[in-house]
Amino acid sequence: MFFKAASFILVLNLIRLSFINCTNHDDDTIDSFLCRKCGETIANPKQFAHHQSPLALKCWNETLLNIPKVKIQLFQNPQKMQFNVVTFSTANVYAHEQAFSEASWFPGYVWRITTCPRCHSHLGWKFQPVNFNHVTHTEHETFVGIILDRLLENKHTDSVLLVPDSYKS
Ligand SMILES: [Zn+2]
Repeated sequence: MFFKAASFILVLNLIRLSFINCTNHDDDTIDSFLCRKCGETIANPKQFAHHQSPLALKCWNETLLNIPKVKIQLFQNPQKMQFNVVTFSTANVYAHEQAFSEASWFPGYVWRITTCPRCHSHLGWKFQPVNFNHVTHTEHETFVGIILDRLLENKHTDSVLLVPDSYKS
């Protein structure tokens, strides 16, 4: 009896979830990346934009935010720290003023440190063409690289259906 009731509730939830999914189809908040530290919304799947670097140590595909084959690149900085980085056309990050050309992972681009606009933790870098200025360039020529480990996937619908690890045999 308990199991029957439980499956009935599950079916009801599935119907409710598919309804939510349909009605909020264009809502950017359904799937998004959050700052792992504070929960601020950082990016959504529409902002994925792959920029291949010739200096990546490794490059592979993963399903992120329900989007298959999103490219992740492994980079190493001069201090030998390694980062798994996903690139976006833009993101909700604060880009620091100072631009650096040293050790740029994207030839022809300089980088600026980017941090979470809420908790200020380091999330990645903004890349812009060398000699970038708003007279001769547009924001479309810039992109953002974010360290995957500093993000958390926020899946409003799918997370409800996930089986907790403790229930798996
Ligand atoms: Zn944050």
